[in-house]
Amino acid sequence: MIDTKKFYINGAWVAPLSGSEMDVIDPSTEQVCAVISIGDQADTDAAVAAAKAAFDSWSQTPKAQRLALLKKFLEIYQTRNEEMGHAISQEMGAPIDMALTSQAGSGSGHTKGLIRELEKFEFERTLNEHAPNDRIIYEAIGVCALITPWNWPMNQVSLKAIAAMAAGCTMVLKPSEIAPLSSLIFADMIHQAGIPAGVFNMVNGDGVGVGSQLTSHPDVDMVSFTGSTRAGALISKNAADTVKRVSLELGGKGANIVFADADEKAISRGIYHCFNNTGQSCNAPTRMLVERSVYQQAVATAIAAAAKVQVGRAADHGRHIGPVVSELQYNKIQALIKVGIDEGARVIIGGLGKPEGLETGYFVKPTIFADVNNDMQIAREEVFGPVLCMIPFDTEEQAIAMANDTLYGLTNYIQTQDSAKANRIARRLRSGMVEMNGTFRASGSPFGGYKQSGNGREGGVWGLEDFLEVKSISGWSND
Ligand code: NAD
Repeated sequence: MIDTKKFYINGAWVAPLSGSEMDVIDPSTEQVCAVISIGDQADTDAAVAAAKAAFDSWSQTPKAQRLALLKKFLEIYQTRNEEMGHAISQEMGAPIDMALTSQAGSGSGHTKGLIRELEKFEFERTLNEHAPNDRIIYEAIGVCALITPWNWPMNQVSLKAIAAMAAGCTMVLKPSEIAPLSSLIFADMIHQAGIPAGVFNMVNGDGVGVGSQLTSHPDVDMVSFTGSTRAGALISKNAADTVKRVSLELGGKGANIVFADADEKAISRGIYHCFNNTGQSCNAPTRMLVERSVYQQAVATAIAAAAKVQVGRAADHGRHIGPVVSELQYNKIQALIKVGIDEGARVIIGGLGKPEGLETGYFVKPTIFADVNNDMQIAREEVFGPVLCMIPFDTEEQAIAMANDTLYGLTNYIQTQDSAKANRIARRLRSGMVEMNGTFRASGSPFGGYKQSGNGREGGVWGLEDFLEVKSISGWSND
């Protein structure tokens, strides 16, 4: 049984050096489901010192040794998947069937993918065939601070921690204080796998405390952060004095461009994708741009599709969507729905308040606004709830301009059966990812954004390279 009030530092579960505590709230019941400790400077310093001390030996371990340990970790993760799924479901409200599959499964999926990349990765290469005595060596960057959000807890933690370990880095993880239970289990799995002491450390805490202490710490070489654009900007400033590498995965306001010749499932697919995880995904297609000739029909289809979306408690089995993560998030979403109404957008389904029968818990009505203008606040701000905006467009150029007219640039979507048009538009969209006609990007593809969606790339070989320095050496002897 994991003691949720302890931190994992230098290969052991330790009591915090300070006494502050925080409740973890189950968003389906509004009840306290666990209590964690909130770390302070002394806890942060102890974790960073452990990571620093472990760096020299871990960064020099042969790749085969790191691979063996990560494979052992994967085996353990798979046998404890159910425990992981239940923790995620309780801490952030993902319905249990989804928590056991896509949420918990993202951790093992990314671990598998990163093991595959590590197997292939050449840490030492010649520069090119004309310079056989020039050596390029990829080396672990050093001590990394990993700071993660609550919405896809194991997706984010595994993309960072497994990649960092594979690269030979040591680290301190500060998971979201709102959803810390899955990371406690993750740390326990690390321990069980026999990862050497000090390589992986975990301290719970909030952004202003442990978060800022880590991002300004003189012994931290890199910050890998996933979360809001607001926090990403603060972290970059905080890390600037010590010139750390800062890798950011931030918010999004994805456009889903639906042309008149889109396949018949395009509208419902877009809605279910937007509402998945109760709309709490950075890559959610939250702005549906629809060609005007099919716009009225699309609105009718959207109402029918959204009416089928059920809302329910996280502990219940089924394909419903759960609550949003917290009271704060619930209030923020309600305020933005109100803004949308006041701005003159037309609510075609959902709206303010809780769904009937779900008065306790942070439940939100799946909501669609039609006749939205891309300048409205609801079209510009990340709502991070089950709220979709429908916006009509007339021409391809107008659709591209609207899709790009945002501070963000994470994922955009295109629906058309004209493949030449799809490819042409994909090149013009200012985002790190484009998904066309419902085809998911394959495992091993890079995840990350342009503009205020961040600058990092996670997953695949890019996710590994994020944690590596490149050293160039001349006069290398090949004898
Ligand atoms: P958040 O920014 O409030 O918090 C994320 C993490 O950062 C938490 O661990 C928090 O404690 C910490 N933090 C907050 N302020 C900090 C500071 N000043 N210094 C250091 N650490 C700080 O975000 P959230 O509400 O937990 O997550 C939702 C956000 O995450 C959304 O904007 C979403 O789009 C984004 N997100 C992005 C991606 C991506 O890959 N691009 C993936 C998932 C979520």
